[in-house]
Parts: sequence; C-alpha cells; structure tokens
Amino acid sequence: MNNRRDFIKKSGLIAGAAFVGGSLNACSAGGSKKGHQTNAKMKLTFKPYDLQLKHTFTIASSSRTTTPVMLVEIEYDGVIGYGEAAMPPYLGESHETAAKFLSMVKLEQFASPYLLEDILVYVDSVMPGNYAAKASVDIALHDLLGKLVGQPLHKMWGLDASKTPSTSFTIGIDEPDVVRQKVEEAAPYNILKVKLGRGNDKEMISTIRSVTDKPLCVDVNQGWKDKHEALELTHWLKEQGVVFVEQPMSKAKEAMDDMAWLTENSPLPTIADEALQTVDDVLPLKGVYSGINIKLMKCGGLRAARKMMTLARAMDMKVMIGCMTATSCAISAASQISPLVDWADLDGNLLISNDVFEGVKVIDGKVTLNEHPGIGVVKL
Ligand code: MG
Repeated sequence: MNNRRDFIKKSGLIAGAAFVGGSLNACSAGGSKKGHQTNAKMKLTFKPYDLQLKHTFTIASSSRTTTPVMLVEIEYDGVIGYGEAAMPPYLGESHETAAKFLSMVKLEQFASPYLLEDILVYVDSVMPGNYAAKASVDIALHDLLGKLVGQPLHKMWGLDASKTPSTSFTIGIDEPDVVRQKVEEAAPYNILKVKLGRGNDKEMISTIRSVTDKPLCVDVNQGWKDKHEALELTHWLKEQGVVFVEQPMSKAKEAMDDMAWLTENSPLPTIADEALQTVDDVLPLKGVYSGINIKLMKCGGLRAARKMMTLARAMDMKVMIGCMTATSCAISAASQISPLVDWADLDGNLLISNDVFEGVKVIDGKVTLNEHPGIGVVKL
C-alpha cells in the first residue's frame, strides 16, 4: 500500500517537475522525502498579469488590446496546481476585485485538497459573484488533485480523449476583403464561428461562402430584434451550411416568449450565451433555447461547469463550451471536459501573444488532450 502510494506520488512529482520549472527545488524539498504522511497545508498565491491580444478585440461597445488575468498557484506538499481568472471588463471583475476575493480564501483550514467538494462549496460561500476569481481557485485545485494522483483530469472523470470536439475559430464583423483574408488565415480550423447581428448578415455569410465550404456556426450576440425576421434568417443560414445559432435575440426576460417561439420553429439549434451565467440559470432556459454555452469564468469553474452539463443533458439540451481570452491554463482546464460537449469554442489562448503556459493543443482543428496530470499544462 505504502509502496503504491509512494509510486503514485513520485510519478506525480516527476511529471510535476516538468511543469514547475524553476520551482523544482521547492517541489522535491516539500514532497518526495516526507513519504505518505504529511502535515502539509495548502497555500494559495496569486499574481496579476495582463494578456496582450494579437489583434484589437472589438465588441459592440468598445475595443481593447489587453485582458487582465489573475494567475493563481495552490501549493500542497511540494506540488503546485495552476489556475487563472480571465476578466474581460464587461463581466465586472478586475485585478482589484480578484485580489480582494482571493485574499479572503483560507484554504489552510482544510486538511487536504482531496476534500475538493467541501473546499469548493466553501470557496463559493466566501463572497457572492466573483465567478472568474472562484474559477481560478477551482482550476488550481483540480490541477493540484490531478498531479497528486498522477492522472489527467479527463481520465479521472472517465472521459474518452478521442471524443474531443473541433474548436471553432471566430471571424469578426468586417469589410469583405478583411473577412476573406481572415477565413484564409483560419485554414487549420474545421468550423468557423461568424459574428452576425449588425445588419449585414447575408453579406458576411456570402463573403465567407465565396472562399470556403466549411461548416459555420453563428453568434448573433442578441442582435436580432424581430422573431419573424430571425426565423427567416435561420432558414437561410441552414441552407448556407450553418450548424447552430448562438444568442440570436435579447437575453431579457420580456423577450423569452419570442425566443422560445424561435427555438420551437427554427431549423437550427439555438444556444444561450449571454442569457446564462451559472448553474442556477440553466433550468429556466428549458424550452427557450436548444442548448447552453458554458464558460468557466462565468460559472465559477470546472465543478460548476460539470453540474451545468449534467443538468442540461438531463433536460435533453445541447452543450457547448466557450471561453474568454485567457492563457493556456484556463483553456486547457476547459478542454478537459470537452469530450462531453457538442461544440467547443476554445480559441482564447490562440488570440494572445504572451502566454505563460504550454498546454492542450489544437491539432488539425481538434482539441487534443495530452497525458500530463491535472489540467495538462507546463509553466513556461
Ligand atoms: Mg457568444
């Protein structure tokens, strides 16, 4: 028994050594020499960081070239789990709010990270909101746990790595020449996500169809105002090889009846994005949308995301996993549960120029899990 434990621990540490780089000394000093009995306590540290975007990111109301993130480490018995909070400004979190939240999280009170379920219930109770900050702790704990037992998370959850989806690559609204060029640059991807809802939808799709016949999905970001026009467009989009429509109309409560009508009549599945954030939001969407887009930074992490998936599946709804611009840490974490989804939009790490992790890769357009324990990242 002890031999087996030591073996598992050592395997975790050997794999861990590759990740932690400069922290290797701390790793061997803390973990391997103590054997299986430990009085170790978890220690959470965090560091603000700004992601530099390769291209200016434009949404309806603003443009930006950076995304603030908080990089989190949870150390236990010489092993380090990595987490990240990615905080696009429109979600209301910042370096300041995340620092305040994370300073309040007292993991020392728990005997070990193996009490993951209890710990994450506690983390959720520390303060309301702060979902990206909560996700950073959730991700780091999952990474830590995987490293301690020496297995990738997807294996711990019994998921088939060959069932990962292709990730879509987003084409923003732009002039036809720019759109054509972006589609050519997206050659490695098997499915393109097209932003619609600015009044030139048919022009956007026709421009893309002039250069590629790849499957498309569209994200309207609540842009369609009239349900009859929306229905007409979904029929046209289906003829154009579109596979689903994300957030076609307003997320507002008053618009739910129109949205339910559209879903009932639409030839394409409708996916809620802005209309939901956490697990509490899923149940009311039954019958209103065909599926949900889950993002770790919106819902609070992997534990919440898995609950949302289970709930959505129990209601026979589609499941998509999306992301913010983030390092390979948050993207690799989301990738671990991607064998469970219908569609993935996990290109957030490909849009930045200063990643601090190497992690799960997109190979031939498909999310491709690796065999590293935990979330599958190496710190650069
Ligand atoms: Mg969206």
